[in-house]
Amino acid sequence: MGGAFGEFSGLIPNGRSAGEASQGNGLDNGQPNTMRIAAFLLLLLVFLLGCEGGPADDKADRKLRVVATTGMIADLARHIGGDSVEVLALMGPGVDPHLYKATQGDLGRLRAADIVLYNGLHLEGKMGEVLEKLEQIKTVVPVSRGIGVDRLIDHPEYEGTYDPHIWFDVQLWAEALDEVLATLIEADPANRSYFERNAEAYRRELAELHKWVRQEIKKIPPERRILITAHDAFSYFGRAYDIEVRGLQGISTVSEFGLKDRVDLIDFIAGRGIKAVFVETSVSQKNIRAIVEGCRQKGHEVRIGGSLYSDAMGEAGGPAGEYTGMVRSNVNTIVNALN
Ligand SMILES: [Zn+2]
Repeated sequence: MGGAFGEFSGLIPNGRSAGEASQGNGLDNGQPNTMRIAAFLLLLLVFLLGCEGGPADDKADRKLRVVATTGMIADLARHIGGDSVEVLALMGPGVDPHLYKATQGDLGRLRAADIVLYNGLHLEGKMGEVLEKLEQIKTVVPVSRGIGVDRLIDHPEYEGTYDPHIWFDVQLWAEALDEVLATLIEADPANRSYFERNAEAYRRELAELHKWVRQEIKKIPPERRILITAHDAFSYFGRAYDIEVRGLQGISTVSEFGLKDRVDLIDFIAGRGIKAVFVETSVSQKNIRAIVEGCRQKGHEVRIGGSLYSDAMGEAGGPAGEYTGMVRSNVNTIVNALN
C-alpha cells in the first residue's frame, strides 16, 4: 500500500511539491529568524492549500483516513475506529445511492483516503468504474463481502444478484461490522485491541437494537403489519421483523415502474384496507402521492404515515444522524402509523 500511496500523491493537484522544493532551498541558507519563520509560514500555507483535505504524507503522523460511500457505512467505521480514524461519507442526508455519481470533489477525497468502504451488491450502481479504478491503488472494501449468499435476498429480476439493503436487518449489519473491523486492523495493527473493544461494545448495542425492533413491530396487529414504500428497500427489514413489505419501484430507484404496477399497488392497498403508506427521505415523494390519490379515486382513504430513512441517514446531530437513531426513527414512524 505504501507504493500506491506515493502514486496517489502525484495525483493531487496544485503542484505542491514544486512549491515546497523552492521554499525548502531558501530555508537552508542561514537567514535571520524572522525570515525563517515567514518562509516556514509560507511553506505551511502552500502545503495546506495543496492538500485539498489532506496531503500525501507520513501516515504515522496522522489518523487513518476512511472514506465511506453512505452515511450508514461511515457510522460503522466511526464506531469501530473511534479516535484513531478520520471518517468521511460521500453521500449525505437525502442522497440516493442508486443514482449517485462521484463528483470532482469526491474523487479528491477518495484519492486522499487510506481505506474506501462501500456497500457493494450494486447499491452504488453508478460508482462501479470509479471504485474499480481505486481498487488498483488502495484498500477498497465492500462491507457486504463477508455475508454468505444464503443470508442475502435474491434480486427478483437478475439471477445471481442480491438486494443491497442489508442495513435494515440489524443482525446482518452486525456482520458488515466484522468486515470493517478486519479492514481497520489490517491497516493499523497497532490499534487492534482498541478497535476490537469498540467493535464489541457496538456489537452489543446492535444486538439490543435488534431485540427492540422485534418487540416494537410486534405491537402492530398482524393484519395491519404491511409496509408500503416508494422503492423496495425494506425486504431485509420485513424478513427480520416479520412485516410484509411492498414497494412501488424495484430494489433500485433506477428501475422503472409501469401503469400496471401502479394499478396493482392501488388495488392491493384498497383490497387490504391499508391505512398508511410511507415516503422515503432519499426518494421523490411524487409517486407515493400519486398512489394516495389513486386510492382516493377508488374510494379508499390512505394517508402518508410518515417519512422513512431508507437509503440515507438524517442530518448529523439529529435523531436519525446515526445508524441506530435512523433505525429507531423508522420503527417509531412505522409503529405509530400502522397501529
Ligand atoms: Zn434503495
